[in-house]
Amino acid sequence: MAHAWSLPAVVSRSRPRWYTNLWKVAAAVVVLPYAAKFSIFAAISQKETVPYTNQAHRVLLTSSEQREFGDEDFNDWKEKRDKYILSPSDPRTVLVRRIASDIIHGVRRLFPNNGIHDDDVKQGKVVVRPQTGHLTDLNWEVMVVENNKVRAFSLKGGKIVIHTGYLKHLKTDAEIATVIGHEAAHVVARHSMELLRSIPFYKLMPFSRRAELEADHIGLMIMAAAGLNPRVAPEFRKKIGEIIGDTKLMDYIGTHPSFQTRSRLLSRKEVMEEAFELYKQERMRMEKCQSLSSLWWNVLGYPSC
Ligand SMILES: [Zn+2]
Repeated sequence: MAHAWSLPAVVSRSRPRWYTNLWKVAAAVVVLPYAAKFSIFAAISQKETVPYTNQAHRVLLTSSEQREFGDEDFNDWKEKRDKYILSPSDPRTVLVRRIASDIIHGVRRLFPNNGIHDDDVKQGKVVVRPQTGHLTDLNWEVMVVENNKVRAFSLKGGKIVIHTGYLKHLKTDAEIATVIGHEAAHVVARHSMELLRSIPFYKLMPFSRRAELEADHIGLMIMAAAGLNPRVAPEFRKKIGEIIGDTKLMDYIGTHPSFQTRSRLLSRKEVMEEAFELYKQERMRMEKCQSLSSLWWNVLGYPSC
């Protein structure tokens, strides 16, 4: 029996459009506004280099905008938390501000030519100069706040806050300096201005932990330049890790790297040697200033007190 041949049915194999998949539509709705915002921010951001680590990053506000908005934002912050801010005469505020004033001296000692922005061109090669112009005339403010959380933080424009819950664990000037130096380093590195902070879940991203390590490194140099022993910093990080809990997992998913890692990186020979040299120089300068001959040193214009 003869079979009748027939043409196979035409099967449409056109690819399903992405917008027919609900998950993809939902993802687009969530991601697109962030992508648009990020693109706009990227276009108006400027590239800068961080001192010491020489990391390049993009930041959003100019130095003057940062100062202006920083002061405004901090005034709002103070109004909202007024009843928790310790008074200037509280011994804890007096203590923290005394050490903070040393730390700010350390910042000024490390970055004296704050106005310099331009990279050098030597023999046709660009020599990158870290930008620290934003530190000029910065209105530093340091507050102690009644709060049990073991926390300190900095806000744009040179504002540093430490909780009483953190302060109670700090037993020496050098331990307090480790914390204040770290926060001042965030200000130096303009971390609060980084373009990457506009990304959702920034705090859990690897570059957030990189910023913390960067602040540890610069903070170590600052405390040393302020005349506070940098060798205290690695042990201090371990101690705080034991107090608030530490796990290697923090190196991958934490808002901060693990305290063990932070301690290890601060202990690196080349890093500690550089910091200790700064510390020795500053202690020598302080001793000369305190000695009876300080008047002569000043008259001769040799180290300024
Ligand atoms: Zn930090």
